[in-house]
Amino acid sequence: MADQGREGGLDAPTRHPLNQNDPKFWDESDLNKELERVYDICHGCRRCVSLCNAFPVLFDLVDESETMEVDGIDVADYGKVVDQCYLCDLCYLTKCPYVPPHEWNLDFPHVMLRAKAINFKKGDTKFRDNLITSTDMIGKLASTPVVNAMVNGGNKNRLIRSALDKTLGIHRDANLPEYTSKPARKQHAALIFDPAKAEEQEAQKEEVAEDAPRVTLFTTCYCNYNETTLADSVIKIFQHNNIHVDLATKEHCCGMPKLELGDLKTVEMLKDKNIPALYETVMAGNDIVAAIPSCVLMFKQELPLMFPDDEKVQAVAAAFHDPFKYLFKLHKKGLLNTDFKNPLGNISYHVACHQRVQGIGPKTKQVLELVEETTVKNIERCSGHDGTYGVKSETLEFANKIARPVVKQIKQQEPDYYGSDCPIAGKHIEHNLDTEQKAIHPLDLLCIAYGITDKGA
Ligand code: SF4
Ligand code: SF4
Repeated sequence: MADQGREGGLDAPTRHPLNQNDPKFWDESDLNKELERVYDICHGCRRCVSLCNAFPVLFDLVDESETMEVDGIDVADYGKVVDQCYLCDLCYLTKCPYVPPHEWNLDFPHVMLRAKAINFKKGDTKFRDNLITSTDMIGKLASTPVVNAMVNGGNKNRLIRSALDKTLGIHRDANLPEYTSKPARKQHAALIFDPAKAEEQEAQKEEVAEDAPRVTLFTTCYCNYNETTLADSVIKIFQHNNIHVDLATKEHCCGMPKLELGDLKTVEMLKDKNIPALYETVMAGNDIVAAIPSCVLMFKQELPLMFPDDEKVQAVAAAFHDPFKYLFKLHKKGLLNTDFKNPLGNISYHVACHQRVQGIGPKTKQVLELVEETTVKNIERCSGHDGTYGVKSETLEFANKIARPVVKQIKQQEPDYYGSDCPIAGKHIEHNLDTEQKAIHPLDLLCIAYGITDKGA
């Protein structure tokens, strides 16, 4: 009786494993049946129409079909919806009333991922998409001395950008990140966890309090090869709070770009490379943090759903934290240094989708508002960048359109600072805002508040 008249589920969403090892996962006709079922539920619901471009494309296909129902859509057009999904997970975790444990068992992003994986296996993937999701390889190459100057110079050259647009499909107006010639892991090589120095490390342990927190920074491709100062900020903040910081012995891409491409084999290969080194630090008593929400989500949620029986994956997931969640936890224990030197004023803060879906609450806002004379206004809209979506010739237009409501709110708020936990989203917003004011990452803001950097001040 209790459920009578209740349309959607009221229970907390749960998520089923991806089941990529089940032969049924790869069966295209079974996938098309599932797509038809899911599209039909969405057509009857339409709550997600403003989230991204996948839903408007689906609803246009329905409305322009002869029957004005999902059965009127040509199956060959199902992929047009899939192409617009960048797996932000917002529909699943913030809107959908039909997710498990609801009997309709609807997981829109996972069915999109399954479709992407089948496409990839069939070889329906562009050279460009394989290239721009190989963030390790590009970062290594673009940070070598001569290549570094060529890549950074080429990215700013209109003729080269025009050629890249025509030949490769990388939009001439897309904001491409600068590459460093000194990757963060090289700059901080002294912090790399070294089991060969176990005795030395034991001696170090004796010098700090027995319960002193220990954290491994998963640097991430972006902070390693692009914005290395963000890795510096994490290290400075944690050391300022008397936390022992180290880096894993080895590090590779977390796999999120390849997951979004549907290249599940490479995701598994990267998991096999990363997990042993991270597990080693977990066994040494460390927690793990990363400054990019997508990388945190990959280790915390996506890999555990792909490899539910892998104990090391699960142990790493349990130890992995968003940095602000970790700092707020420290504050709750009375261990966070709150001796701030500089107020931050009004901050417009874009909440990154991959951080929202971690279900950790507004931890960045809560930590920044510990600083006196600081007010943080959350903007809970997608920035539109979403990894490669804001780079491709055919999708940049939509990425910019999705950014508009965020840009509008920032303009109205006239903040002292604005930024996002996702630095790539921050840059995309900055590009669309088109003013002199630069985006600044909340971790950099915390450094300013502590007076341990003058970056952006
Ligand atoms: S996961 Fe994100 S991009 Fe994909 S359909 Fe849902 S809201 Fe849109
Ligand atoms: S994903 Fe869920 S909430 Fe969104 S349109 Fe489909 S059924 Fe509705």
